[in-house]
Amino acid sequence: MRTSPRSLILGLLLCLALSTAGYSSAYNARPKLVVIIVIDQFRGDYPERYRDQWGEGGFRLLLEHGADFTDCNYNYANTRTAPGHATLLTGAYSNGHGIMANEWWDAQKKATVAAADDDQTKLVGIPGGAPGASPHNLLADTLGDELKLATQGKSRVFGIALKDRASVLSAGFAADGAYWIDRATGVWITSTYYRNELPKWAQDFNSNKRAEKYLNQEWKDSNGNVLRTTKPVDGKAGNFYDLVGSTPLANDYEFEFARELTTYEKLGNGPATDLLIISLSANDILGHKVGPDSPEMQAMVLATDRQLAGFFEFLGHQIGLANTWIALSADHGIAPLPRVAAGLRLPAVNIPADKMRAQVNSGLSTRLSHPAEYVKQFDYPVAWLNPEAFAAVKVNEQDAERYVGDALKQAGLRSYYTRSQLERGDAPNTELGLKYLHSYSPLAGWYVLGVPPPFAIGFVGGTDHASPYNYDTHVPLAFYGLPFQAGTYRTHAEPVDLVATLASLLGINVPTHSIGRVLTEMLAPLRRGANSSGGGQERNSPTVEGRNFKPASEGFAPAEPKAARVSTTKLQMGGTR
Ligand SMILES: [Zn+2]
Repeated sequence: MRTSPRSLILGLLLCLALSTAGYSSAYNARPKLVVIIVIDQFRGDYPERYRDQWGEGGFRLLLEHGADFTDCNYNYANTRTAPGHATLLTGAYSNGHGIMANEWWDAQKKATVAAADDDQTKLVGIPGGAPGASPHNLLADTLGDELKLATQGKSRVFGIALKDRASVLSAGFAADGAYWIDRATGVWITSTYYRNELPKWAQDFNSNKRAEKYLNQEWKDSNGNVLRTTKPVDGKAGNFYDLVGSTPLANDYEFEFARELTTYEKLGNGPATDLLIISLSANDILGHKVGPDSPEMQAMVLATDRQLAGFFEFLGHQIGLANTWIALSADHGIAPLPRVAAGLRLPAVNIPADKMRAQVNSGLSTRLSHPAEYVKQFDYPVAWLNPEAFAAVKVNEQDAERYVGDALKQAGLRSYYTRSQLERGDAPNTELGLKYLHSYSPLAGWYVLGVPPPFAIGFVGGTDHASPYNYDTHVPLAFYGLPFQAGTYRTHAEPVDLVATLASLLGINVPTHSIGRVLTEMLAPLRRGANSSGGGQERNSPTVEGRNFKPASEGFAPAEPKAARVSTTKLQMGGTR
């Protein structure tokens, strides 16, 4: 390894910093707060598409002053919200964390259950005592859980989203709180899994009727044209989630709550690094309706940019950006509107999934000479089976899933993978086969994962995500903070790398099932031997099988976590608040 003058200077600086700052407490040198922003439905090509339209301080903070991974893709097929959030925070795919869908058919309960539903809990913040939510279905722990373990609970961990699944599955088991909204009224709620009543500040937030001021608003584009209004129809009490949720006002509302939480919970002011995960749901609610190429989506994305800038500025004032690490990604991308893709002569189509399910059920009723609802639930292209119906005709799981898969193929799907097949690890040794192995979960009963043709959308209006194709798997992955070298990185990255990287830099264990790699190419270069008192660089070595990883430049040594510690310490001593 060569030794350049630059590395000598870095080494000297390191010695200096070590001698002055010392290591009085291991955690003094860590960031005060890690903020992970997950945009619900944000495709990986948007940052480039709108590059010339970003303002200062929002996406630009991450893309130009941070480390931007342009080629980050989920390596699984079930690109939905619950699996996406679970993947980002556990660093595992569904075969590790167990969440393979937003909801599935529960044969014991004879009901559809959602990924975060938990009958053992109750909602907190609204009257009625309805069943609440918890991470009980997660089979792996999260970054927040590992932070809690490493600090004996001193780190504080919170999740915020409009959707319960996004908030709860991100925050993990040991979180201090996960908050989401009551869809009808917009008030912030949680569940008895976390606490028996809302904290005072959240009660005040709700009782000040902050949700109401987002109703009866007009959302205008930059030319003053009204894109949508949040006026309840016919004077009826509106559904906050749909009305406000499909405008940028919903992200404003989330950030308003996030600021309040940060202030009142004193995030970044504790003895250990705190973690806040914010999932911005509005982008998805609108995106399904209008598609990725609409003027409304453009306006939404540009509004998100301004909202991020506002929140980052708040963090700067409140905690100091030198004391904060920010990471940004998304739970999935989105397909173009079939109408738009078909206009360009791509084979795109809207498929009425209800009809497809009816077709499969009537086909099987004929084949098995017994009319029944064999497919109980169909979230295109995934079918959940009714074990009871198959038991009545003495068909076992393996055969039942094959029958349904064949019927789905006849109805237009390209291919299929069954639950029992994936459980055996029986998939072809192809890129697609691996994606489906990663989509397996032992939860969720009997199911068949259909392989859709690209650009085929499982409902009649709008567009969707839930395919293994790159428009659904491609998401942004960007980091801002002292350890991250600004730059555009085109190396292979996956959402599972997010927590692997942060855990390594924080000096804590990665979550139980994490398979991510540490994104060493973006970490500050520090030469081995310049100061090797701490050792430990080896664990960052970029030797992950099957990844097309190349070091950013010749002679680049994997950064050791100390590089981050030292620079953070220096800046903290400078009193940036
Ligand atoms: Zn969605």
